[in-house]
Amino acid sequence: MPVVPIREILDRAFDERYGVAAINIVDDLSLEAVLEAATELDAPLIVQTSVKTVKSLGAGPLMSMWRARADAVPVPVSLHLDHCPDRAWITTCLEAGWNSVLFDASRLDVEENTRQTIEVVAEANRHGAHVEGEIESVLGVEDGVGSDDAAEVHPVEVSSKFIADTGIYMFAPAIGTAHGLYKKTPHLMPERVTEIVDLHPIPMVLHGGTGLREDQFTDLIARGCAKVNISTALKIAFVQSHREYLEANPDKNDPPSLLAHVKGAVKQMAIDHIGMFGSAGKAGSLSASAR
Ligand SMILES: [Zn+2]
Repeated sequence: MPVVPIREILDRAFDERYGVAAINIVDDLSLEAVLEAATELDAPLIVQTSVKTVKSLGAGPLMSMWRARADAVPVPVSLHLDHCPDRAWITTCLEAGWNSVLFDASRLDVEENTRQTIEVVAEANRHGAHVEGEIESVLGVEDGVGSDDAAEVHPVEVSSKFIADTGIYMFAPAIGTAHGLYKKTPHLMPERVTEIVDLHPIPMVLHGGTGLREDQFTDLIARGCAKVNISTALKIAFVQSHREYLEANPDKNDPPSLLAHVKGAVKQMAIDHIGMFGSAGKAGSLSASAR
């Protein structure tokens, strides 16, 4: 069974300090492209959907599309709901079969965020699913969620208490990254990952990775960022490859060759990131150890 709880993918990645790409897909073509990339590299993969994508495709049709394709791949894969501030959509996705969710209550104060996250963890447990939590919003708006104002960064003890009180499986700390493309060089705070992991050894999640250098990814992964989200890079590959093809072939009205070009570009983007994060070749031995 290639669709597994996210824990089966991330426990080992966190222990061995490699990163698993968590890629935000937007449709069936991008889903197929990233699954092919993971298969080719024998890598575990996390597929994510934004709430916007769930709303536009529908949770039921999206789940059918996911099962139809994910059940056929030979590597372990897991489906995650990215930044979701809305409890009703969390419930919809958990009931539909998502393996994990990011309950994004970072706009609330820590106390209320903690109270609600405890409820979401209990709800997810009933479905055998896992929860990602955050208390500091990641800078930048992504698919309609988030803010362009710099978030307050709490002392790591506050993060540690939030993790302990809520029982979340993974945590997205503020480390100076931002969603979208960087307008200026980010000021990273990688030591926060180490400090939180020292207090609470659970997988950390890296948001806003598009535009970081390879050595920055490598450093953050070595500190415990086992889940590395990729959203903007997919959007760029998806849109630019359409543009490229249409500019090169202004008179061609051949959807299959346009789609093949786009799929190739998205797949290559996924291959580049999975390779950079160190998870290539980690799928086979995972399924062997699970047997
Ligand atoms: Zn994010």
